[in-house]
Amino acid sequence: MAKRADLIADIEAQAAFLEECGAGFLIGERPRFAAAASAGPGSGPPRSERLRRALGQPGSDRSAAPEPGNGPPSAAVLPPFTYASFTELEAAVRVCTRCALGRFRTNAVPGEGSLTTGLMFVGEGPGRDEDLQGRPFVGRAGQLLRKIISAMGFREDEVYITNIVKCRPPENRPPHREEVEACTPYLVQQIAHIKPRVIVTLGATPTSFFLPMHRSMTDTRGRFGDFFGLRVMPTFHPSYLVRNEGNRELKRMVWEDMQKVMAFLGRK
Ligand code: SF4
Repeated sequence: MAKRADLIADIEAQAAFLEECGAGFLIGERPRFAAAASAGPGSGPPRSERLRRALGQPGSDRSAAPEPGNGPPSAAVLPPFTYASFTELEAAVRVCTRCALGRFRTNAVPGEGSLTTGLMFVGEGPGRDEDLQGRPFVGRAGQLLRKIISAMGFREDEVYITNIVKCRPPENRPPHREEVEACTPYLVQQIAHIKPRVIVTLGATPTSFFLPMHRSMTDTRGRFGDFFGLRVMPTFHPSYLVRNEGNRELKRMVWEDMQKVMAFLGRK
């Protein structure tokens, strides 16, 4: 019964978080894109304790958070795709000024890959190379991710790669809460269109969005979570592997996580 109660609490927290960040249509609300756009950066919904916890900000009561689970997928269904086409969604991202990051970018980076894939990778945000090229994961960390995808037995065009925010944060800093709130409705719409079976979250920022009870990557990685019926596999960001190039244990852990994804997708 305790596990059931934890699962219900987790789903309720996830639903409240999605409402706060403008993706409430996942649970039956209409999209709030227009409201978010007119509100401008820095305004918008109140920053609740749940949101602080989800984004790993100080002040969170982490002791009360249950373990992210390996429980069964929730029965909740994905929202409808509300754009006329995926191309229209990408075009909206490229001209978006919904948050302050739009002022700093060279190119917005919607994402790339298969729109019918069962496997999606979500990182934190574009870096310098990505900003210049308008493509996700093309720098050194991106090359490593693409090697991992290949090692998993997929071609790059058989998966979809994107980020939590679509414009580069200055100096590659983590995106601020209001930037995540402004941008993630695009991500949710990408998911609603693609409907992947597994979403691999790369690092703490995307993991916190998909699994609000996430506490640390060390605790969370390697175990499937649930995002409205879709499986979520958290693992380390490839840039963390690049920064710790000699750490074979980190690479082993990431590969172990990917093997679980391959097994779930019947690729192993
Ligand atoms: Fe728009 Fe997202 Fe870019 Fe902010 S980061 S300007 S919300 S596309």
